[in-house]
This record gives sequence, structure tokens and C-alpha cells, in this order.
Amino acid sequence: MTIKKGYTSQSIHTPFSKKDAHNSLHMPVYDGVAYEFDSAEEIEEAFMGKKFAHAYSRTSNPTVEHFENKLKAVTEASSVIALSSGMAAISNTFLALVESGANIISSNHLFGHSYALLKSTLQQWGIEVRFVDMSDLKEIEKNIDGKTRAVFFETITNPQLEIIDIAAVAKLAHAHNIAVVADTTVTPPYVFKSAKFGVDIEVMSTTKFISGGAAAVGGAVVDNGTFNWSKLPALNKWVANFETKAFEFRVRKEIFRHLGGCMSAHTAHFLNLGLDILALRLDKCVQNCIELGRFFKEHNKVKLVRYPGLKGDEAYALAQTQFGGKPGAVMTIDLASQEECYLFLNRLQMVRRATNLNDNKTLIIHPWSTIYSEFSEEERAEMGIRKSMIRISIGIEDAEDLINDFKQALEAI
Ligand SMILES: *Cc1c(COP(=O)(O)O)cnc(C)c1O
Repeated sequence: MTIKKGYTSQSIHTPFSKKDAHNSLHMPVYDGVAYEFDSAEEIEEAFMGKKFAHAYSRTSNPTVEHFENKLKAVTEASSVIALSSGMAAISNTFLALVESGANIISSNHLFGHSYALLKSTLQQWGIEVRFVDMSDLKEIEKNIDGKTRAVFFETITNPQLEIIDIAAVAKLAHAHNIAVVADTTVTPPYVFKSAKFGVDIEVMSTTKFISGGAAAVGGAVVDNGTFNWSKLPALNKWVANFETKAFEFRVRKEIFRHLGGCMSAHTAHFLNLGLDILALRLDKCVQNCIELGRFFKEHNKVKLVRYPGLKGDEAYALAQTQFGGKPGAVMTIDLASQEECYLFLNRLQMVRRATNLNDNKTLIIHPWSTIYSEFSEEERAEMGIRKSMIRISIGIEDAEDLINDFKQALEAI
């Protein structure tokens, strides 16, 4: 019997699918495009899918495959497909799951480009998206009909920091034969075991926590192997040939291959490094969030502090049960006005003004005037975006230095 390892040991010691020719302990960057076969028979077998072999790097690559295998080991999923970005992971997933004329249920508390993909791009291909309040099971149920194929939500929305009861939503979806797709970007596999809560497909931007240091844009689709794909018309043909692997094979052999959103070997190299030290980084981020949360709560210029890992936060209970008390590293604070937010942002010396999330560096942004500036005031209000709100993605710096920087910047107000 093999003993189950913890997250980090599992990631670091994931075996290569083939021993390296030079016994390298570290997976090399296989930069090449094409792979040679020794005989015509072998190339036939590979093309027929009888024996797996790399043939061309848009469809598979050894460095990318190793990243997929590592992510598979730490998620204990049935399959992992790495792609060029988080958006590629999301778009490939829905194009594989949903046929024209069918619908998806989602929330308007979504990453901006995901929202735009669902609202405009998919709509053009005849896929309808029904935006509901995901925390309201009755509203979800009201919107389900015979054409609903998937529910889609983010595990912690940002900047609203809303957490839903994932198991309850999954139970409802499964009762109607609907697949549960979760964007787990901000709660990577170290803190969230998605299958335990009924998630069938995880989509993630590996650009964020997994890359660590914001070194490369990438994404992944993780199939937990939990959904009965024969329930979805878009996968009928694939179920006949691949049964429980219907979704994986439709993505790999059709959508992913035809849209060409493959991950580069260099990106996979950075992600292989990032995945190994994810737990160390994430623990430090969470500890920083707790310490900063305490600091902000005591400061008289700060009107509101939100971080689901803080006792007393409205999302605290679900953050404990679903994410083991490590609910990512995004927090928000509210000051008295937009003017005060700008004064504060402009005075920061170490913390960087930037839009990314889960970098090693602490990043700060005023969402109202940036990420959401294209939306009307009413739409922003509906999305839970306030003029007085600041989003902070906490990095791995020393907590004391972060506190000192925030403290001196708050003095500008
Ligand atoms: C960044 C992000 C994405 C998109 O990922 P890219 O790698 O930038 O394409 C999707 N979902 C969430 C929650 C994100 O934060």
C-alpha cells in the first residue's frame, strides 16, 4: 500500500512519465515542436491513439505533461488539461459542455472577462447565460430548465469576497443532471478539495497563485471524474467512445486542439516551480492577511475590512469548512471616500498599484475606477462595487513592512 503524501511532498515527488535521458532531477524545458518515431508502425499507433506518444507540441508536450501530472497528483482528479490562460480554460470548458440553444446558470459576481465571455461571446453562439444570485438556492432552481447544462461560479468572488455553500449548490444542480463548474483560481488545490464539495469541473487561472511571482500566464481544466456525461447532449457522441472520460477527450481531441490554446513549455516550467512552493507561499499570505486585518480593524480611517479568514467576517464560517480557514489572500478595505482612497494609494511606497492577484508582491487597486469603470454606476452597485472600496492582494513580504507601509500611507488622509 502506498502512503498518501501531503500536498508539497506530492507535488515535488510526482514522477516523470518517462525517465529523463540524462537523469535530470528537474523536468527540463522541452522547447521543441515535433517528436520523432522509430517506425511507421509506431507513428500509426500514436495517431490511432493506441499508444500515447508526444507528436506535436500544440497537442502535447513533455514539460506541459509533467505540470498536468503534478496538478493531477495534488488534486487527485481524473484528468488535468493545461492551457494557455485561465480564459482559455473557461472558454474551452463551456464550448465542450454546452450546445447551441442550451443555457448556463451563473452569477454576475465574476472575473470581468469571464463575465464578458458568458454575457456576449457565448451568446453569439446561441448559448444563453442566466445570471442569478448564487447564494439563493431558490433563485437558482427557478432558473433551471430542461436546457440547463451547467452552473458556474467562483469559489470566492472578488472584490465582493462572497462565498457560497458549494455543496448545497452542487446537490441542487446534480438533482437536475447539471454539471457543476467552479473557478478555483483563488483557492488552489492546497486549500480546496473540490470533489468533496460536489464540484465536477474545476477551471483555474494558473497565472495567479500557482505561478507565484506572476511569471507566466496559464490555465487548467480539472475533471474530477464525478459527473455522468451521458446526461449532456453535447457529449453524447463522446460518451459512446470514452465513457467517463467523455469530457476530457472532447476537450483534448476537439476543442483544445482546434482552438489552439496550448500552454508553452516555458510556462509549464514556471508553473512546475510555482506548484511545488504553493503551500509555503499561501500559508505566509494567509498569515499576513490575518495580521493586516487586525491592523486595519483598529485603524480609525478604515471604515470596513473584509477578509473571509477573519473572525467575525460574514463569510468566515464557510471559509473554515470549505477552505480550511485559508480563504486565499484578497482582502478589501473601505475608506470614507474615493478621494481618500486615491490619497492612500498614491502615498504607498512598497505596495504596488497593479491589477493582478496572488503575486508574491502585495498589489493594490481601486476597483470602481479601474476594473469596473466600463460599467454604469447602477451596474457597479449591483455587482457590489463601492466607490470607497480598495482591493488588496496580499503577498509574501514581511508583515511588519506591510503594516508600516499601510500605516504611513493612511497618515496622508
Ligand atoms: C485572472 C482570472 C481569470 C483569468 O485568467 P487568465 O490567466 O488571466 O486568463 C479567471 N478567473 C479568475 C478568478 C481570475 O482571477
